[in-house]
Amino acid sequence: AGHAPFDVNLIKKDFPILQERVNGRPLIWLDNAATTQKPKSVIDRITYFYEHENSNIHRAAHELAARATDAYESARSKVQVFLNAGSVNEIIFVRGATEAINLVAKTWGEQNLNAGDEIIVSNLEHHANIVPWQQLAAKKGLKLRVIPVDDDGQILLDEYAKLLNPKTKLVSFTQVSNALGTVTPAKQIVEMAHQAGAKVLVDGAQSVSHLRSDVRALNCDWFVFSGHKVFGPTGIGVLYGKEDLLNETQPWQGGGNMIQDVTFEHTKFHDAPNRFEAGTGNIADAVGLGAAIDYVNKIGIDVIHQYEHYLLVYATNLMKDIPGLRLIGTAPDKASVLSFVFEGYKTEEVGAALNNEGIAVRSGHHCAQPILRRFGVETTVRPSLAFYNTCSDVDILVETLYRLRGAHR
Ligand code: PMP
Repeated sequence: AGHAPFDVNLIKKDFPILQERVNGRPLIWLDNAATTQKPKSVIDRITYFYEHENSNIHRAAHELAARATDAYESARSKVQVFLNAGSVNEIIFVRGATEAINLVAKTWGEQNLNAGDEIIVSNLEHHANIVPWQQLAAKKGLKLRVIPVDDDGQILLDEYAKLLNPKTKLVSFTQVSNALGTVTPAKQIVEMAHQAGAKVLVDGAQSVSHLRSDVRALNCDWFVFSGHKVFGPTGIGVLYGKEDLLNETQPWQGGGNMIQDVTFEHTKFHDAPNRFEAGTGNIADAVGLGAAIDYVNKIGIDVIHQYEHYLLVYATNLMKDIPGLRLIGTAPDKASVLSFVFEGYKTEEVGAALNNEGIAVRSGHHCAQPILRRFGVETTVRPSLAFYNTCSDVDILVETLYRLRGAHR
């Protein structure tokens, strides 16, 4: 921990669940790409909301309504600053990254794409950034095209350039691959898409907890993420969209909260964000997400990035020497993820052996089957790091793998 720019063991104490024991051992949480653990400040903030502020959010109704509205809108402002968005009106609360992508497909996609139009995704995508576009393509007669990756798992920009053409209406891609950890050249991908006249959605589900997010620097049209992957609660996530674009887009769900005026003949919708927030939202968890952002800001995302990079290099160097271990995803620019297969063992056997030692990793297809198949595998074992992990966590992982191999480090 000497290399950490903060005291990692103190940080660990902020997370009650990291004090758990599993199979008689201290829990080592290395499943951060699936979901992250929550600091006490987030858990407490949600409790505080229900104990002192709970109401629906119509500010003027009464005192608690004002408190709940202030808490919810203050969380929206925190997200705005966290993403460096130009306006709070560009921040829409949704259930998660999946819902955000589906929202864009069901609104902007349905309203603007026509037979023959093309959508580009990358080979790295999570199923959440494949299936909604495939469904839309089937419905409207669109073509889905795929940017290939090289043998390290990095996007081939030359091949991408060849896919772009006047029929390209949307490029939708991930900033960090959940299966390999590849950090994609997002700014360049966005720029090239815009030059071709296409809109761009960036899937930030795996990047927000590891890299500084800056939607204005990226200049993407939409950006999506899930609260639970950035130390916040489940069931809350964010769709960022450029304000004009959001207001030009007709809403998806209709109901309370999203209207200015309703008669039986006609409804006038609010502008964004309300037009996309029909019904009572997940108020408490939005407030919890705000607390998670406060927590991340307190440590500092750049410091987190620097420490995690150190940890990733430390782990990569140890793991590549383990006999029979094949790392999948070896791009120079990576975040958090160490996907691998282990000769002679099924991935679920490795997962079970690690679980016996209290180590939580995901073994499976990580909802990204196309990219694993690109590397000739159906599943991998996937340890994934966060800032509360230590070199000692990595050492225990590595020792367990050596023991399983029947070899010595
Ligand atoms: N995109 C990526 C890159 C992801 O890793 C995930 C979650 N594994 C998602 C989208 C979907 O997020 P959620 O399940 O929280 O909606």
